[in-house]
Amino acid sequence: MRNQQATQLLFELSQPGRSAVVMPPCDVRPQEMIEMLPEHLCSDQPLPLPELAEPDIVRHFTNLSTLNMSVDTHCYPLGSCTMKYNPKRNERIAALPGFAHIHPLQADSSAQGMLQLLYELQQMLAEIAGLPAVSLQPAAGAQGEMAALMVAKAYFRNRGEIRTRVLTPDSAHGTNPASASMVGFETTTIKSGPRGLVNMDDLREKLDDRTAVFMITNPNTLGLFETQVAEIARLVHEVGGLIYLDGANMNAIMGIARPGDFGADMMHFNPHKTFSGPHGGGGPGAGPICVTEDLAPFLPTPVVVADHASSGENDSATFRLDYDRPLSVGRVRSFFGNVGVLVRAYAYIRTHGPDGLRQVSENAVLNANYLLSKAQHILPVPHGNRCMHEFVASASSLKRDKKISAMDIAKRLLDYGFHAPTVYFPLTVPEAMMIEPTETESKESLDALAKILFRITEESADLLHEAPHSTTISRPDEVTAARNPVLSWHAGLANDDLSTDH
Ligand SMILES: *Cc1c(COP(=O)(O)O)cnc(C)c1O
Repeated sequence: MRNQQATQLLFELSQPGRSAVVMPPCDVRPQEMIEMLPEHLCSDQPLPLPELAEPDIVRHFTNLSTLNMSVDTHCYPLGSCTMKYNPKRNERIAALPGFAHIHPLQADSSAQGMLQLLYELQQMLAEIAGLPAVSLQPAAGAQGEMAALMVAKAYFRNRGEIRTRVLTPDSAHGTNPASASMVGFETTTIKSGPRGLVNMDDLREKLDDRTAVFMITNPNTLGLFETQVAEIARLVHEVGGLIYLDGANMNAIMGIARPGDFGADMMHFNPHKTFSGPHGGGGPGAGPICVTEDLAPFLPTPVVVADHASSGENDSATFRLDYDRPLSVGRVRSFFGNVGVLVRAYAYIRTHGPDGLRQVSENAVLNANYLLSKAQHILPVPHGNRCMHEFVASASSLKRDKKISAMDIAKRLLDYGFHAPTVYFPLTVPEAMMIEPTETESKESLDALAKILFRITEESADLLHEAPHSTTISRPDEVTAARNPVLSWHAGLANDDLSTDH
């Protein structure tokens, strides 16, 4: 049932004279007002604000707040993005006044608790990564990539080496080549082999002393562990290059394999994916990076350091922001980064502990394989019948035989109360549907998802082409929405003009 009231604007719901409050009559006479205010600032017309009663306003915003699907309301199997459930406890911790009301210009001496938390988070991330030096500053995964490539560039410049190239596999997330080009590198794409892993012959051919960095995602975006990663690292290091690990998929390997141990020199984390930070709608997130000892001097400034003092039996530490880092690439973010997201990550990691984090990954992989074992009978999964934390199915045979596309299935899932998976990524799989159930879904919700996927593939193409049928807006014209976004309301612009709602 479409919700008409939620799609009307407050201006459209407005009734002249209606009000949420009863004000006492104004006892300032107009003449007095004019004497108090300069005349050109006085309007002779009331402001054209919407006029509504309190229940209308409450209903409007409450209805609006329920239009989107979220992890709190629906299963959200969005591949690559790890939409796991965010424990509410972490929200409460981040909202404690001592964390929420701290000011970034406070003296270090008055922010010791926060600095200790950030220092310990640096140490915990270093341990999970197997890489000793950490910057918490980047504000998202993509910015972490960019910051780490800036670090790599400064490192080579400091060594007097000119290296211009970044290599990325063809299954890489779009942010990888984008970050490389923002930092001024040229990108070379490495092909995937038939099994969905990096094609080693193509890598050997393209690798030379112009290579600065090879960016690899492991497990990769097909949900497969790049088993030759140690050999890849050996080859890249042999020509003097560095390995960057895109850590968006750490939910599959935390506490089991450490990127630093399988050859990575630098990586980022996505706390808003792996460590249960709320995400979607553009932020805020965070993108802490971890690097080797050799790259540490180039990290963004400041980093949190501890000064240890021991007197007799007692060891005590004070914490401070270290700006005195002459080789640093400088700041990449105002103040210290998105500290609120980092507090939630800290709470999440401390709650689980090392064994708990390992169990998170084991359950994420188990859930994905359970769903894969059911889904592969409905939609072919071209690369393998085992996966890590996610898998990529293909709707290409359905498209050929029944004219049903990945987009049609994704849209129809909304009618059945499931958020759509990621579609059309990675680009190496035609009609890709990238499904990541995460460890926080129950067996019942995975069974239900498999059942619904099957039901959808049995439905008529005509029904699917028009889906979703139950949402407020059905299929907006995505090209027009991207090319000609209507971002503000003007009187006279009817709601119908904003969408192609049927
Ligand atoms: C999400 C993601 C990124 C980018 O992270 P943001 O925090 O969204 O900037 C990079 N690589 C992969 C594989 C991702 O899934």
